Amino acid sequence: MISSADYHLALENLPVATFESLVGDRTIFVIAPHPDDESMGCGGLLAWAASHGRRVEVLFLTDGEASHPGSAVVPAIQLGKIRMREAIAAAEHLGVPSGSLDFMHLPDGSLPGMSDHAFSTITEQLRLVIGKLAPCMVCVTASTDPHGDHQMAHRLAVAAMSGLEHCRLLAYPVWSWVLPAGENVADPHGFRVDIAEAREKKRGAIAAHASQHGRVVTDSPKAFVLPKRLLDRLDRGYEVYLEA
Ligand SMILES: [Zn+2]
Repeated sequence: MISSADYHLALENLPVATFESLVGDRTIFVIAPHPDDESMGCGGLLAWAASHGRRVEVLFLTDGEASHPGSAVVPAIQLGKIRMREAIAAAEHLGVPSGSLDFMHLPDGSLPGMSDHAFSTITEQLRLVIGKLAPCMVCVTASTDPHGDHQMAHRLAVAAMSGLEHCRLLAYPVWSWVLPAGENVADPHGFRVDIAEAREKKRGAIAAHASQHGRVVTDSPKAFVLPKRLLDRLDRGYEVYLEA
């Protein structure tokens, strides 16, 4: 285990790889707990894949409807629909067609509380999707992300990939980039991949999640806004993919 400060340093010094070496010529399957995670964690990868003729599928576990609780203007059900549209708009920035996106509509914020039965059912659904897509690479949020939905997404992906030898599971950090000081986490192993070419597209995709930048719901008592320190961390010339 290492401190969060050392962890961030380790992420920034991971060995460099290329998407070609990680992906080959087959499908990429991205699992995102919420609309915005795919842009923040994998925007560079998705843009690269779209412009290099690779097939991409993105599965959102939730619609992200719980980010602004208590709003009278935009109730949760409406916010979920807005966030789905934002995901489609973000994908457009990356060159990914809307037909490559799918939503499981699981309850946002409640994934850690799912029953064992629900866990098994969702794991089986993911296995079916993976079996059908036959991807060479599955990406999911890092287990070090301090967000229950992100951690459960990781656990589900690990379970769904169990025994599947032909396909690699890699984890993308989102909130791990801004772990609080004093936390201890496992030493990261993985790669940095240059995304300089896709940087503008990634910026556009992240910005397309307008509700997460305080531009849609203005009356929520617990209004969520993506913090600048996270956005600054993500706006680098590379993305990180960790061995899961
Ligand atoms: Zn998320």
